[in-house]
Amino acid sequence: MKIGIVGAGQLGRMLALAGLAQGDEFLFLDTAADSPGAQVATSLLGGFDDAEQLAALAKRCDIVTFDVENLPRESAEIIARYTGFQPPIDALATAQDRLSEKRLFETLEIPTVAWRSVERAEDLHEALEAVGLPAVLKTRRLGYDGRGQVFVRRPQDLAEAWQTLGAGPMILEAFAPFDEEVSLIGVRNPSGQCRHYPLTRNVHWQGVLDYSIAPLERSGLQKQAESYVQRLLEHFSYAGVLSVEFFVVNGRLLANEMAPRVHNSGHWTIEGAATSQFENHLRGILDLPLGDTRATGHSAMVNFLGALPPRAEVLEIEGSHYHAYGKAPRPRRKIGHATIVCAQRSDLPARLERLRRLVGPRE
Ligand code: AMP
Repeated sequence: MKIGIVGAGQLGRMLALAGLAQGDEFLFLDTAADSPGAQVATSLLGGFDDAEQLAALAKRCDIVTFDVENLPRESAEIIARYTGFQPPIDALATAQDRLSEKRLFETLEIPTVAWRSVERAEDLHEALEAVGLPAVLKTRRLGYDGRGQVFVRRPQDLAEAWQTLGAGPMILEAFAPFDEEVSLIGVRNPSGQCRHYPLTRNVHWQGVLDYSIAPLERSGLQKQAESYVQRLLEHFSYAGVLSVEFFVVNGRLLANEMAPRVHNSGHWTIEGAATSQFENHLRGILDLPLGDTRATGHSAMVNFLGALPPRAEVLEIEGSHYHAYGKAPRPRRKIGHATIVCAQRSDLPARLERLRRLVGPRE
């Protein structure tokens, strides 16, 4: 099959690497000529709103998927005129807008923190009354990796936060006093087959994923998370991988956000699960039988942010695997990761600490 991918970042690159092994062909569309994806497959050059290039991509592919969350709905619709487009456009559009995302969680009875929509400055006061402090003000669109959000601790800081974020449509959320953050990755194919990966525990640094540990091994939470993700998969008649991030507060899951694509917190599945999230995404969109999502050991994944640690030293750690995305280093930029897979859970903490020391302090 010839698979088109809009966006040729590391997610697209890892999708292509998974599919090339099975004889699929890939064609990217990206704004940069030297993207991580362009290093492993041909890439068309163009913006994500470039109607001509979107149509050119679609005409040359059996199906098109994406690795960027901010692909405009109109662009996806252009592609869908010529060929298959998965995951569904509705899922893409919902995840792009924090308000529609929260409303959908509400409709499907998936719990979240208290939140209010803020359309104009005049809505701020009422939102604050409803949500309380501390709170987090977030732009409805284009927020990722901690961007587009401001933590608010005092009432007098709210107006300034609103200005800082550009005085547009936002949501105000209650701050979740979470014990931990976790994510669940589910996958569905159009025939209706669904599978879920084990829950992953995620530790963030300044809003960016620092490291993940999987499986979480808490059967109550696993069942609950699967039931929430299943509702979303069925709601959209989904195809491919869907990732949902949760806060764990007093043993309960509160959904934070969803991503209609493969996810950084699922990178450990490349070596640590029977089938990787990348392979299962492709199987899902191609309506092939889905692969086993079970963990084959105990895994930890650490992101390389802004710099690559010495490869040989990382690989000296038993069970480690090194990934570099072919990106130029810049502060905070995700340019690679390493995963450690251990047969024994008790071996993981020391090896993870060693890896984290090699990656260096987060600053
Ligand atoms: P997001 O862009 O919504 O995924 O937020 C990035 C990170 O900011 C999350 O993974 C949390 O660590 C933190 N965060 C976001 N919203 C909240 C919240 N309502 N309460 C506590 N922490 C939050």
